[in-house]
Amino acid sequence: MVQKFDAIIIGTGQAGPSLAQRMTQEGMKTAIIERKLFGGTCVNVGCIPTKALVASARAAHMARRGGDFGVTIDGHIKVDMKQVKARKDAIVKQSNSGVTNWLKTMENLTVFEGHGRLESPGSVRVNGDTLEAGKIILNVGGRATVPDIPGIQDIEYLTNSSIMDVDALPEHLIIVGGSYIGLEFAQMYRRFGSQVTVIQRGARLVSREDTDISEAVREILENEGIDVRLNTKCMKFSRQDGKVIVSTSCEESNEEIVGSHLLMAIGRRPNTDDLGLEMAGVETDERGFIIVDDELRTSRPGIWAIGDANGRGAFTHTSYNDFEILAANMFDNDPRRVSDRITAYGLFIDPPLGRIGMTEAQVRTSGKKALVGKMMMARVGRARERSETQGFMKVLIDAESERILGAAILGIGGDEVVHSLLDVMYADAPYTTIQRAMHIHPTVTELIPTLLGDLKPLE
Ligand SMILES: Cc1cc2nc3c(=O)[nH]c(=O)nc-3n(C[C@H](O)[C@H](O)[C@H](O)COP(=O)(O)OP(=O)(O)OC[C@H]3O[C@@H](n4cnc5c(N)ncnc54)[C@H](O)[C@@H]3O)c2cc1C
Repeated sequence: MVQKFDAIIIGTGQAGPSLAQRMTQEGMKTAIIERKLFGGTCVNVGCIPTKALVASARAAHMARRGGDFGVTIDGHIKVDMKQVKARKDAIVKQSNSGVTNWLKTMENLTVFEGHGRLESPGSVRVNGDTLEAGKIILNVGGRATVPDIPGIQDIEYLTNSSIMDVDALPEHLIIVGGSYIGLEFAQMYRRFGSQVTVIQRGARLVSREDTDISEAVREILENEGIDVRLNTKCMKFSRQDGKVIVSTSCEESNEEIVGSHLLMAIGRRPNTDDLGLEMAGVETDERGFIIVDDELRTSRPGIWAIGDANGRGAFTHTSYNDFEILAANMFDNDPRRVSDRITAYGLFIDPPLGRIGMTEAQVRTSGKKALVGKMMMARVGRARERSETQGFMKVLIDAESERILGAAILGIGGDEVVHSLLDVMYADAPYTTIQRAMHIHPTVTELIPTLLGDLKPLE
């Protein structure tokens, strides 16, 4: 059967549902297609469940640290993994049902549950039906990718999705991948009580960050008893007596790590391999990301790609911002662009890292004349009061324009505090604006003007 619509959205990630609402409000007869879970990665197996688990892990950590604050807890502190999972599931369910009900009751919207595949530039096949529309929007997201490392076929492993079903404590969790996703799981499982080993191919963790950040993150994790193995260029897997063995050297002096569970957290790939892009003439890059212009148009007029699948961002906020850009251009005659946005993201270990704009390494490469300010969190009253003094704040300033180029706040509240700098960047105001601001005492943010008052040339 052929059904005609004004617009078809494939995928219900972080952009599709909001776009569906806007399109239907604009009077467009719209179809939305979801093959698995409404709300996509963030809601079901990404941000929301991981942050719920991070919160349980922090509760366990603070209970163990009770003595530091003069709080005595009689008896052994135990983590009930079934309850941890049940709490996480309840939080996920609330968000998942929220999106599901929202879409299923949206006026002017038809929801299809199945796999959508482009048949031509103007049509999509789903569950044996053909849907036609002049506008097609792809919000298909991505999934974990597991490279073909020797022995991987012979062992069982977890990904960020399947680890969501774990409701018992792994005795020894080995995590391959020392980047954002891997490290959140590393710290949370250590705090739940597992022995944890992180294996990273490169010379440092979170290798996209500056070296001082990588070092501080490693220290935070090692202080909690996480075993971090770097420079493991050669890797192979095997199985013995129900255990997983990871060999991290190809030399004769083979180093082996024996664990009860393995989490592969090496990277993600876009869900574009089974989307029929070739039938519609939509081009991708060599990694499968859909090529888009600054307004998110693909190479085929009438088709847009938003969210992780376009390779222009890998976060919930970048996906949602894609929706805002597309809607502004389509309906509001407001020419918003992807290039208008400033890099911003968090690493949600505890304490968290808030990152905006350029890294120090990027500033150096750019050749800009710059100033740098750095302050250890141990100087921050709020951090000392809470006995959480790990990390530091760093800010980079353009010496000529006085604009903030970038910042990293690794420390208590870093993921929130960094927004005070980000908003000044969006306001295109000089750093002196915030330097003169009066902030509330005692907070972390109150030290930002002090940090900005002590800048040095970036040598
Ligand atoms: C463990 C983990 C933790 C994360 N934590 C954070 C965080 O703290 N902060 C943050 O900003 N980001 C985080 N992210 C990233 C974030 O989840 C994604 O950037 C976000 O979900 C945006 O995705 P999206 O809108 O592109 O699509 P997705 O959320 O990936 O959704 C795509 C949807 O499309 C559906 N789909 C795909 N192909 C088809 C098809 N052919 N037919 C029908 N349906 C289809 C999928 O089933 C899915 O529901 C995390 C990711 C992971 C894995």
